[in-house]
Amino acid sequence: PVNKAEISFPSNSVNEGFARAAVSAFLAQLDPTVADLTDLKTAVSEAVTNSIVHGYRDAIGTVYISVKLFENGKTVVRVRDKGCGIPDIEQAMEPLYTTGGEERAGLGFAVMQSFCDSVRVTSSVGKGTSVTLTK
Ligand code: ATP
Ligand code: MG
Repeated sequence: PVNKAEISFPSNSVNEGFARAAVSAFLAQLDPTVADLTDLKTAVSEAVTNSIVHGYRDAIGTVYISVKLFENGKTVVRVRDKGCGIPDIEQAMEPLYTTGGEERAGLGFAVMQSFCDSVRVTSSVGKGTSVTLTK
């Protein structure tokens, strides 16, 4: 990468806005179109919210974000938690699938996929989840 940044913060929902703003500030130096930046910010927000509400559903833990900028303008954002993990990633990524009950739509992964070129998820039950977004 030509540039990279890493941040981590406790999984308080108040930090959702911080994560979004921090990634946005870092990516702004790339001077992408406003639309591209908004897309990635939206996807990052979904991934961070998932770590906060699902990954660390029973306790506060640390959310890790790394952002990498490549020479060709490609951007890779990884959002990682050391939370409960996802037992069945394929099922979790199906639109409308949610373990969050009435409050959740089950559309977070669908949003990430529609706003990014690729969404890669790795997860291990009891160890945590990593979501890599490429744009
Ligand atoms: P919405 O995003 O629409 O509010 P949602 O979060 O349930 O609803 P998705 O973001 O698509 O929908 O996630 C689907 C499911 O995948 C979640 O309900 C949860 O079971 C699981 N999941 C997603 N991210 C994580 C994570 N970081 N740790 C553990 N489980 C996760
Ligand atoms: Mg979600």
